[in-house]
This record gives sequence, C-alpha cells and structure tokens, in this order.
Amino acid sequence: MSRIFNFSAGPSTLPEAVLLKAQEELLDFNGSGMSVMEISHRGKAFMSVADALRSDLIELLNIPDNYKVLFLQGGATGQFSLIPQNILNGKSKACYVNTGAWSKKALKEAQQYCEVMVSANSESSNFTTIPDYAEWNVDEQAAYLHYTDNETIHGVEFQDIPEFGDIPLVCDMSSNILSRAIDVSKFGIIYAGSQKNMGPAGVTIVIVRDDLIGHADKRIPSVFDYEQQLKNDSMLNTPATFNWYLVGLVLKWMKQEGGIVAMEQRNQVKAGKLYQAIEASSLYSNPVDKKYRSRMNVPFVLANAELDKTFLELAEKKGLSALKGHRSVGGMRASIYNAMPEAGVDALIDFMQEFERTHG
Ligand SMILES: *Cc1c(COP(=O)(O)O)cnc(C)c1O
Repeated sequence: MSRIFNFSAGPSTLPEAVLLKAQEELLDFNGSGMSVMEISHRGKAFMSVADALRSDLIELLNIPDNYKVLFLQGGATGQFSLIPQNILNGKSKACYVNTGAWSKKALKEAQQYCEVMVSANSESSNFTTIPDYAEWNVDEQAAYLHYTDNETIHGVEFQDIPEFGDIPLVCDMSSNILSRAIDVSKFGIIYAGSQKNMGPAGVTIVIVRDDLIGHADKRIPSVFDYEQQLKNDSMLNTPATFNWYLVGLVLKWMKQEGGIVAMEQRNQVKAGKLYQAIEASSLYSNPVDKKYRSRMNVPFVLANAELDKTFLELAEKKGLSALKGHRSVGGMRASIYNAMPEAGVDALIDFMQEFERTHG
C-alpha cells in the first residue's frame, strides 16, 4: 500500500499518524472490545473523548473563558442560516463582506432572515483581492459583521482581523482554522466545518462569545439553538461520535507536532515555496493580489489551458492527486492544509518544473 499526496480542497488529506491510530483501535477502543462507533455517547469512554476534544481545541486556539465551544451538525453551510437565526436578536440588519464564493453563499442565506448590507465587495476583480478596510461601509448598529477568513475556491486570505468598534465579528474559518495563531477575543463567533483542517466531514465547530447565546429565534430547531446545545454539552441529540473521535485525534496530532506555532511555521514555508515556484515560472500564474494570497489553497493557471488535461494526467501518475481547480475558476488548485507534509509540496514543485521543461 502506498499513500499519494492528496491536494483536495475538502474533504482533504488527514495525517497518516491519525489514520493509523484509528485503524489500530478500530475493533477494540480502549479495551472495551467495541469500536468507538458502537458505544454510547453518554458512557464514560465516550465522555472522555468529548472532554478531550473540547479541552484540546480550547488549548490549541487559546480560547478565553467567556467563549463557548459547540460541536454541531449541518456544516458551515448550515451556519450560514443558523447564525442570523441565533444572533439577530430582534435586529433587522447584518453586514457582510463579499470576497469570494463562500462569502457570497453566506450572505445569500442571510438575506432570508434580514437586510444584508454588503460592506465591501471584490466581485468586480473576480475575487482576487480584499478591499481596504478604509473603504468598508459598516453600520455599527447592525447585528454583526460577517467575513470569510480564507476563500477556499478563490485562494484569498485575510492577513489580519478587521476591527470596527463593538459590532460582533462573525467569521467563517472553515478552511484555515488551526493553521495560524488567532486572537479569539476579537470575535463574536468563529465557525468552521471539520473537513478542511480538522478531520473528516461531519462536525461543525462554533466558538461563540457567551453574550451572543440565548437570543435565538423561537422557531429554530432546538438542535441548532446555541443555548440549548450549550446546556446539553452539544449532545442534545446523538452526536456524530466517530467524527468527534477523529477530529480529537487530529487535535492530539497537532499538539504533538508543536501546536499552532508549528502549524503556522510549516504553512508559511509550504505556501512560500509554492508561490515562489509559480512566480519563477513562465507557464504558471496565480491571479491573486500578493498581499492576500492564501496559505491554504493555491490556485494557479497554465499559460496554455490546452495543457490542463495532460498536466492533470501526468500529475496523477506521479501520485499528485486532486489538483483540478474549482469549476468556477478553472486551472489548478493545490490545497495544502496542515496535514499536507512539506514533502508533498516539494513533490508538486518538482513535477511542475519538469512539466514546464517538457511541455512549456
Ligand atoms: C468548505 C467550506 C464551506 C462549506 O462547508 P460545509 O461543511 O460543506 O457546509 C464554507 N465555507 C468555507 C470557507 C469553506 O471552505
């Protein structure tokens, strides 16, 4: 058996050590004679999985005491509509920043619940930049200000945290959570699906400041009401136990590897190398404003799009998988999350250079 390098945007590559650990204890979890999938979520064995999951996340992200961590279902997409339903709290307006495909989906969903004020918009540049904060139009009386920290499809990433007075900042960190240190205290809500940087699909993490809890629209399903889930330790209904367990293993792996600091350093090195190789080439290019290039998702196009098919076929043969760009952008995209080793990026760069020599 040989593992290849998987550049998929999500679900995405997992640390090999995590897969091996899951395999090792699959049939007999902790001497129970059962797999972790088969045991009660209320039992002692699973409770320790749940407790470690919560405390490891709090430790890794340095989450302050006045924030609560919820593990929900429905994905980040579910949160697009659950956030307004939980925190509008009688207000009729929310501000959204439109910097790519995911921001746009989030604001479209919110429009069903409130007036959406688009505070900044980079669509006219085909989502290749982030408008300067000085140009943002934020109504500080609105219920919250939403933005997408890393645009997974367009490869655009914020480099710092926008600050606009006391308006709660709500941030979709699905594709870059745990990839660098962040100051959680600047946010009202941070949310993320698990399948990019934290594990397999199936767990939605919502980190929410406690004053924003308890104001949900009464018609909201109780499993999506932050307050009710908080009171029940995210177990108002049966959680996705196996997925919680796997996310827990990924967090343990991150801690063993040196935590957020190590992840951030590695990610800088990996992305730095790949962008440098693209810059040095006359075949490949990346359209994104240099200031806002994503360290997680690196889109690039070939000067001659007729070469795309051959590029992908030959890459696949070299064990470099899932490099095809999103259909809305075209070209290629290499997703290089925490679990992508530097050796994978090196192999990709070697292949790109060889391809340029032979086909460029
Ligand atoms: C993948 C992704 C989503 C959607 O996540 P689901 O878990 O499929 O709902 C939302 N936002 C961003 C930034 C993403 O990368």
